[in-house]
Amino acid sequence: MSAQLSGTKKRHSTPGEAGAPLVQLRAVYKAFPLQQRLLGPSRHWVYAVNGVDLQLTPGRTVGLVGESGSGKSTVGKLICRLELPDSGQVLYDGQDVTRFRGAALRAYHRQVQMVFQNPYAALNPRKRVDSMLREVLKVHRLAGCSQMEERLVQLLEQVGLPAESRHRFPFEFSGGQRQRLCIARALAVEPRVLVCDEPVSALDVSIQAQILHLLKTIQQKNQLAMLFISHDLSVVYHMCDEVLIMYLGKIVERGEAERIFSQPLHPYTRALLSAIPVAEPGRKRERIVLHGEIPSATRRPPGCPFYSRCPQRLPHCQTEFPPAHSPQTGHTVWCWLYREGHQPIRMDQS
Ligand code: ADP
Ligand code: MG
Repeated sequence: MSAQLSGTKKRHSTPGEAGAPLVQLRAVYKAFPLQQRLLGPSRHWVYAVNGVDLQLTPGRTVGLVGESGSGKSTVGKLICRLELPDSGQVLYDGQDVTRFRGAALRAYHRQVQMVFQNPYAALNPRKRVDSMLREVLKVHRLAGCSQMEERLVQLLEQVGLPAESRHRFPFEFSGGQRQRLCIARALAVEPRVLVCDEPVSALDVSIQAQILHLLKTIQQKNQLAMLFISHDLSVVYHMCDEVLIMYLGKIVERGEAERIFSQPLHPYTRALLSAIPVAEPGRKRERIVLHGEIPSATRRPPGCPFYSRCPQRLPHCQTEFPPAHSPQTGHTVWCWLYREGHQPIRMDQS
């Protein structure tokens, strides 16, 4: 998105205000077999998520940012229980979601909803809007016959669509309107957690801001615990309270959104931030161009995952994963540059 950063971000909640987490990921790992063999386990794996910790709290939005292939969607699917972790825990209200069965699992799938990147693929082209929403409401027994019509109109209004649009098919809507329909379908089941996976990446720039505004309004009104996934840091600025920066399956920096934007510490965060235009006339931000692409996730590097592209890498970054450095409550970076008493030496200059 070409959104520019300007003005002061309106805070939605402060670190101290955050209540008890509703969703927690604790040291979660997930790998996918690369080639499925007929007999025996696969020899090759894609290490999508490598020890991620994360918390979602009602009324707060957490942004998960990183390049394509860094494992963001897998984190979203693990939260929605569309994937199961290889190790670590995914907790909902303190309970391990992998143990949910039957009614408990159905209730979980209702309370944790996902909005996907592509609203074209997410809707059944053969169903009119009203039959799509009716089905959802019926399956979850959320409205009796007498309240059905009223609830449908209410849902459409909530996402800014006219009541008459319930008689139309998905192909009769524009991309932005289809994403509104996907949001209405997610809201129909009155979720407590919303995972938005690149919800505006497939939309025209002119529509993106409207959908972001809608999601923010809904999140605040319903006090949803929201995970907002994006490859674009500028989109996240106005949406999120906290931001996690992910690279090759690992979180490399996390902090309150304002802090990440004003004092980014990790070289990767700085590079992502340097790509965003500054709105103030005369002010320039030095552009940090990263060379190459995110490496293949078929290896789990022992050191810092960003080593191969880092402009400030040190020799031992390749072999040892950096310890956590927390300059302030709620702000943590995993980078050898911040080891106490450490004098940064630039490898490219040495
Ligand atoms: P992102 O959303 O950040 O682009 P993903 O979570 O989609 O990243 O993918 C992370 C890595 O895991 C990628 O290398 C991707 O190819 C791989 N991956 C994701 N899902 C699967 C799957 N079902 N089978 C095999 N590999 C997968
Ligand atoms: Mg993705």
